[in-house]
Formats: sequence, structure tokens, C-alpha cells
Amino acid sequence: MIFLWQQSDWHRLTRYRNKLHHSLLINGQPGIGKREFSFELCQYLLCSEVSEQDNRPCGQCQNCRLFNAGTHPDFHVLTSELESAEGRLSLLTDYSNRYLDSKEREKKTKYSRVISVDQVRGLIERFSTHAHISAMRVALILPADCMNINAANALLKLLEEPPSDSILVLVTATPSHLPATIRSRCMTQTLTTPDKKSALAWLAQHLPEPQIDIALTLANGGPLEARRLFETGFLQHHQNCLNGFAGLAAKQVTPIDLAGQLDKLEFGQLLVWFHRFVAELVKFCVTGVKPYWMESIRIDTQKVSVERLYGLYDRISYYRRITRGPVNEQLALEDLVLAFQRIVV
Ligand SMILES: [Zn+2]
Repeated sequence: MIFLWQQSDWHRLTRYRNKLHHSLLINGQPGIGKREFSFELCQYLLCSEVSEQDNRPCGQCQNCRLFNAGTHPDFHVLTSELESAEGRLSLLTDYSNRYLDSKEREKKTKYSRVISVDQVRGLIERFSTHAHISAMRVALILPADCMNINAANALLKLLEEPPSDSILVLVTATPSHLPATIRSRCMTQTLTTPDKKSALAWLAQHLPEPQIDIALTLANGGPLEARRLFETGFLQHHQNCLNGFAGLAAKQVTPIDLAGQLDKLEFGQLLVWFHRFVAELVKFCVTGVKPYWMESIRIDTQKVSVERLYGLYDRISYYRRITRGPVNEQLALEDLVLAFQRIVV
């Protein structure tokens, strides 16, 4: 499916269906519907009877039926174990499982966030034969920035010598995390972030009214991310996080205790939250614009060094980058909480 705010993106990208670049890089901020858009695009590329009226996949031909059943032989999806297990899109789980060792995964307590070189090699092998039933083969790599360096290098070979009748679709919210050699070989399409009015209207169909505004704010304007924050329970934890940092600033909670509490939350989401929290604190120190949460945390901003806040912001960026690899989340949290304490206490 594509969302209302993606109509012009769709039109722009599909105007010349048969002349599309062999490697597409779809990007855009988190939570705006990149997954859904990309799956629709892949179905469109495989469909044999694209509707001329609206230039969308027909939904009826053999290609479309197999695609929607999760069994199309010419469609390949690489994603991380974590993304596959989260099951945000059932087709993503169905297709990506072909490239993941499900038995190996069952033994794990924490899923990998990485797309491995073995997955990319498996894709290259499957791309070495001809398409089975469609006119072309389509591969989707999502999130493409989850590829580790070996995987990215292996993929580079495919990008340098793309097999005929094939299209690679890479999707990421952070193209800067991809090697420049990969980016330069792709045609980039940035998807639209909906304006606030459209985002709120969409969210109103999915979330209880009182939660909508705060969810969208925390999701930096990405409506699907806002819904996810609600569904994963993170929205309810938002106040707990604020209380925790308020306690730390007031010396009522120790950094180790706070890190222990935060460790129960999903690490990736927590880092995004913390990033936003620090950014708003910087904004407040510099411009005096009060964040909505300032009432619940008393911080003497006269004493706060903005330079050190920037340092903390960079440190969070660093942890966000390395979450793709094996990272000790407890230690990382303690490091960040201690750094925050040194700034505000
Ligand atoms: Zn079709």
C-alpha cells in the first residue's frame, strides 16, 4: 500500500516503469511508510498487468497473487533477524525468512540487527539464474544500513555488474550510514514526510485521541513511528523516562539505578528518545524555547554547558550507529546516564 502523502513520490518514481534504474535507494525519515511504499513498488515491478488507470499493481495476475501470498519466486528480501522477528509487515517476515536461519534464531535471546554477508551471498547466487515467472527479478534490502561492511562490499559487486532484468531496491532512513560506493551506484528517491495535519488525520484512525499529539512529537513527525511507539508501549514509558531523569537531576536516583530501569526498554527506541531529549535541552539552553517536559524536570540551565550537551548528543549518535553490531546495552546506558549526570548535577 501507499499512503496519501506518497502519491506524488509514487508518480515520480513510476512514470517510466521500463526505464527505472537497476538500483534504487529509497530514503526518508523514520516512520513515514518506507516499508509499505517499497513493497508496493516491488509488487508493481513484478506485476504483469499493471493497471493503466492508476499505474498500480493489478492485484489479480499470477505475479500479484504469489507476491501477496509471500511465495513469489522472483522476489527476494534481506533484512535483519530483529526486523524479521518484529513482524511489522507480514510479507517482510515471510520473504526474509528464506535468507535467515530460523533454527539458529530460536536459540537466541537477542536478535541480530545485522544483515550479514551470507545473506548477500545467498542473494547473489539466486540472482545468477533467470527469473522464474516474472519478467524480472526484484530484491529488497531493508534497512540497507543494517548491512555490515562485509555485506556491503559483497553487494557492491552486484551493483557494479547488475544482472539483466533485475532491480535492487535499498531502503534506509540513514543513507549516510551506507558506504559512498554503494550510494553512488543507486538512483536516490527521498520519500515525503507528511505535513502535521495529514499525519494527525492518519493517526486519528489508529490511536486514542489524547495520545496523538505527543506520539507524533516523539516520533519527530513520522506517523507510522508514532503508532509504533504506542503499540510497543514506549509511549507509556516516556513519562517514566522523564521521571527517571528528573530523579537523577534532583539526586534522588543513582545513575546505575536509572540505567537499570532504562535497560528494560527497547534499546534502539530509547536512544532515539534520548537523542531528542538532549536536542530539546540544547535548544532550550540556546534559544530559551521551553520543551513541553520542562515542567517535570528541574534543571538549572545556567549551570549547563551547551558544549558538553553537544558532546553527549554525539555520544548518543555513536551508540545509535554501533547498535548494528554486538553492543553491551547495559554498559552503554550507564555510560550515557553518567555523562548526563555530569552535565546537569
Ligand atoms: Zn498484477
